[in-house]
Amino acid sequence: MMSRTYPVAHIDLISLKHNLSRVKQLAPDSRVMSVVKANAYGHGMVEVAQALENSDAFCVARLSEGLQLRQAGIQQAIVLLEGVNTADELQLATDNDLSLVFNSLLQTELTISTTLNKPLTFCWLMIETGMHRLGVQLDKIELALQNLARSDNIKDQIGLMGHFANSELEGDIRNQQQLANLKELAQHYNAPFSMANSGAILSFPGSHGDWVRPGIMLYGSSPFADKMARNLYLKPVMRLSSTIIATQNLQEGDEVGYGGDWMAKQAIRIGIVSIGYGDGYPRQLSNCGSVMVCDKVVAILGRVSMDMIAVDLSSVWSAKVGSEVTLWGESYMHIDNIAAQANTISYELLSHINERVIREYHHG
Ligand SMILES: *Cc1c(COP(=O)(O)O)cnc(C)c1O
Repeated sequence: MMSRTYPVAHIDLISLKHNLSRVKQLAPDSRVMSVVKANAYGHGMVEVAQALENSDAFCVARLSEGLQLRQAGIQQAIVLLEGVNTADELQLATDNDLSLVFNSLLQTELTISTTLNKPLTFCWLMIETGMHRLGVQLDKIELALQNLARSDNIKDQIGLMGHFANSELEGDIRNQQQLANLKELAQHYNAPFSMANSGAILSFPGSHGDWVRPGIMLYGSSPFADKMARNLYLKPVMRLSSTIIATQNLQEGDEVGYGGDWMAKQAIRIGIVSIGYGDGYPRQLSNCGSVMVCDKVVAILGRVSMDMIAVDLSSVWSAKVGSEVTLWGESYMHIDNIAAQANTISYELLSHINERVIREYHHG
């Protein structure tokens, strides 16, 4: 039967929880800040945070995301990875019990010099260890920590945070160097530290430290180009599906879609599927992607348009208007394979799925 709404992102909360237990198994001595930024990598931030109730804390990128989680009633500590940059934002973060990462001396100075209603808790200093994105330079750490320690606006001991630039490259010397920088500081100040994202949780036990920060592995994707999620015991969480809304019989020489980028070499039956780049489906899959219809993997023909794609139905006679199509999900259609076809990473494909796609949550 044809479903009433499509496309649908089916979110398997049992697999999500399984992946969190995998994190805990790999890093038994660390606490877990589950990373739910960017709408939980497209999976729905509030629903994911609710399902991951066994997390010790959550990480988001921005204030707006932290506020959304608090308004939904999430009780755990929520860490704003980008911190805040104005006194208004700082007050709002404090009033909502959000925790900050201080990424620069500007951000520490703002915190020290603003009068707050109550102190901040569970805050972190981002250390520049080699990523050169956010973080305080090694020679300024002493100053920053001293100033924060003196401030009435800070309650708990400040933790030290670093972020790997190459965690998906197992054994890379740069990872050892970045970790060494952070660990030395953590030992010197006897401070808790947090460095490991998914790649490091999976491949670099020495980096786990006091708090790990899993993102992509929670959603069942492998951060490594040469290792499949299944072999890391991760289960895919999202299955993206839609529906065939029309079929056509083409003659030799007929062109499909904008620009006529695909032409029939013989008579062929095609299906039109209701999904496109306007849903966040990657346009890079034009003429090179595949989808699954009636348990068969078939090719995308021509360009991905805003609302639709065309697919080859010549081998699937049972497919008709109303048939379900899987864009990604299990086995052959794993998000990691689709990302490789689209010449990008799963992070991008997942986080691009927008609000036009209905999310359906499955509790098992
Ligand atoms: C996004 C992010 C993470 C999670 O990274 P994954 O590779 O998805 O595990 C961890 N830490 C920081 C600072 C991040 O920005």
